[in-house]
Amino acid sequence: MDIFAKCPQYTTAKEAIKAGFYPYFIPLTGSDGTVAEYKGHRLIMCGSNNYLGLTTHPKVRQAAREAIDKFGTSCTGSRFLNGTLELHEQLEKELADWVNKPAALVFSTGMQTNLGIISALVGRNDVVILDKDDHASIVDGARLSWGETRRFQHNDMADMEQVLAEIPTGKGKLVVVDGVFSMEGDIALLPEIVKLCHKYEARLMVDDAHALGVLGGGRGTTAHFGLTSEVDLIMGTFSKSLASIGGFVAGDETVIHYIKHHARALIFSASIPPASAAAALAALRVMRQEPDRVAMVNSISDRMRREFRSLGFNIGNSSTPVVPIIVGDTYRTVMSWRMLFDKGVFVNAALPPAVPEGRELLRTSFMATHTDEQLDYVLETLRTVCRQIGLI
Ligand code: PMP
Repeated sequence: MDIFAKCPQYTTAKEAIKAGFYPYFIPLTGSDGTVAEYKGHRLIMCGSNNYLGLTTHPKVRQAAREAIDKFGTSCTGSRFLNGTLELHEQLEKELADWVNKPAALVFSTGMQTNLGIISALVGRNDVVILDKDDHASIVDGARLSWGETRRFQHNDMADMEQVLAEIPTGKGKLVVVDGVFSMEGDIALLPEIVKLCHKYEARLMVDDAHALGVLGGGRGTTAHFGLTSEVDLIMGTFSKSLASIGGFVAGDETVIHYIKHHARALIFSASIPPASAAAALAALRVMRQEPDRVAMVNSISDRMRREFRSLGFNIGNSSTPVVPIIVGDTYRTVMSWRMLFDKGVFVNAALPPAVPEGRELLRTSFMATHTDEQLDYVLETLRTVCRQIGLI
């Protein structure tokens, strides 16, 4: 049997491209943050994780340019060998300080951060316990580890307790949850999760990719709940509020030291390039200097959630700048995505496996830099399109 035999049989994406209803891999030809361009067609960007609008901030751009001038375009090696710059260490210091943990470690992407942390920590005699809606990088990190994976129903504390109670004593336990869930923008029930972790002697890691820069004055979900000291590991990415690419984990010194010397995704991959590290560091500093941005993204998303609800959209339990419009089937999701695109609004079509079957949705996300005029247009366009497809 030829290993490639499945490839020509895979036609779903090709058929969608041919029909003009393919919402992925769109090669944008320009972007200034809130407005993207596709072959001269301008789109209001409501599908990006650039929550604070910092990708175009003059200080962030300047820091990236200066890093290229000083260090060149790449580290051409792993953090472990030649690829650690003082810039990486400065970034680690300021990130640890920001999330209020003693130490931090920078990886090249958020995906690699989760792969690296979980597979380094979870050994043969251990169990990793996940929320069913955890991000794919957490699921893959668990798969890469030698331990066993158990999952509980999304934000279902009774189910989480049952899963924990069934694990034999003597096993090491690591619970990993998203702080803000990436598709529906709802928040992990951290106070209850912390209690259960204490009761069953499990360690807790929170993936705060979508909460940093947004919740807890920008310091994330653990700050939002006042539970930073109760959460063992905080993970984050630079590809959202921090306007770059890369990831990090923060926690106690000894644990970070252990991960640093066991995470294969760190040791066997080249380090984050100088420009990306410098951009993340500059974005972190701007976030601290301009706290109004954090307030702004929250007030914009409060408004959008309120307006979406009054239009009659099902937005699930979103309480962050990630606001889903739950459509419930692939056809209408893709159809409305295309109609919005044509009218100049870029949103994301989220289909299985990114969301459960029956939970297909348009994922909208908002930035501190969206103008009232842009948001008014987005609301009006969504209303028209969702009426046309019979969603409201
Ligand atoms: N965790 C979560 C919750 C995410 O949403 C993402 C990216 N969408 C990642 C991790 C991976 O981050 P990155 O894009 O930096 O690889």
